[in-house]
Amino acid sequence: MGLFTKDIKSMDDLFLHVVQDIYYTEQQITKALPEMIEKATNRELTAAFKSHLAETKKQVSRLEQVFELLGQSPKGTSCPAIDGIIAEAKEIAGEIDNKKVLDAALIAAAQAVEHYEITRYGSLIAWADELGHEAAAKLLKTTLDEEKATDKMLSSIGEKKVNLKAAG
Ligand code: FE
Ligand code: FE
Ligand code: FE
Repeated sequence: MGLFTKDIKSMDDLFLHVVQDIYYTEQQITKALPEMIEKATNRELTAAFKSHLAETKKQVSRLEQVFELLGQSPKGTSCPAIDGIIAEAKEIAGEIDNKKVLDAALIAAAQAVEHYEITRYGSLIAWADELGHEAAAKLLKTTLDEEKATDKMLSSIGEKKVNLKAAG
């Protein structure tokens, strides 16, 4: 279903559609992170990816709770945006031999993922508030905070360690 097909008539429909989008997204991230963990060499970066993989699995079940609150069964919808971000990450990672440069590329790719998630959760929370889905908004906010913290953590790993070594 495309975003602007006639299947989406109301804000409730739009909200559900984007919940399905981020549900698909979180599942794709769950599949992509193990490869990034394998490719990363900086220990802090590996640890950050590992802990975010565990967090992401919890985010998937949090979304399942959101579906339940909406009286819907969990279902993903295609998200060309996350598919593109992940495809680009794999493509660039395949082109880099230098381990420090590869770490820098992995951080940049992971931050692209986090930023996509942050925009999606931001919109969903605003709409959940507007639609009176208080419990769903709370669950989504918990995840948004995790995505923001991960983004910050990746910035600090990149700034403190990886980028300096890659440049030197
Ligand atoms: Fe996530
Ligand atoms: Fe999407
Ligand atoms: Fe994330």
